[in-house]
Amino acid sequence: MDWIERTASAVAAEKERLTSLDAAIGDGDHGTNLDRGFTAARAALEAKPPEFPGAALVQVGTTLISSVGGASGPLYGTVFRRTGKALGEAESVSARELADAIAAGLAGVQKLGGASVGDKTMVDVFVPALDALLAGLADGASVDGAFGAAADVAESAARSTIPLRARKGRASYLGERSEGHEDPGAASAALLWRALAESVG
Ligand code: ADP
Ligand code: MG
Ligand code: MG
Repeated sequence: MDWIERTASAVAAEKERLTSLDAAIGDGDHGTNLDRGFTAARAALEAKPPEFPGAALVQVGTTLISSVGGASGPLYGTVFRRTGKALGEAESVSARELADAIAAGLAGVQKLGGASVGDKTMVDVFVPALDALLAGLADGASVDGAFGAAADVAESAARSTIPLRARKGRASYLGERSEGHEDPGAASAALLWRALAESVG
């Protein structure tokens, strides 16, 4: 619940930046899309508080799918729904269980959208951030440290999309003109990973 609350706040605060990134290589709606979606998700959680962490994330995903018109609604919706489903009805979740559930969410979005690392999408952030999280947890790093390191990796991975040419989504229509701009979905994915680290810490 705290993760979603922090993500909603970060998306609201960064709405203009996300939208201007999308104006450069898309249709200029990413910030408004996600702000609408996470505002609705936050309201749905308050209206009907879920019994389990997994149920909360499934509800967030369902709300994103129904309230966001753009590509990012079904894509992020799938991440949250699959992550929530993987958590099942557990009342408490270990760091490792959460990381494994996010891996299921990532697999879902890659199956739906067909993007791999280097295609200049949110996947460019999720893959290395999740790898860093799993590596940190396996090394016996503190939970805070592992999630914090994953968020650091996510932010640098978002910046690393700048020189890339988009191969998926609307930005791919621009071909080489998509080079030189940060991918908006990669930028929002970094916000989500930072919010997660803050809610765990
Ligand atoms: P739309 O392109 O429909 O306006 P948004 O602007 O809200 O939707 O979201 C665009 C973002 O969605 C892109 O920056 C990219 O990160 C992500 N995206 C687009 N297509 C895919 C895909 N096939 N797989 C993963 N992410 C994608
Ligand atoms: Mg857009
Ligand atoms: Mg759009």
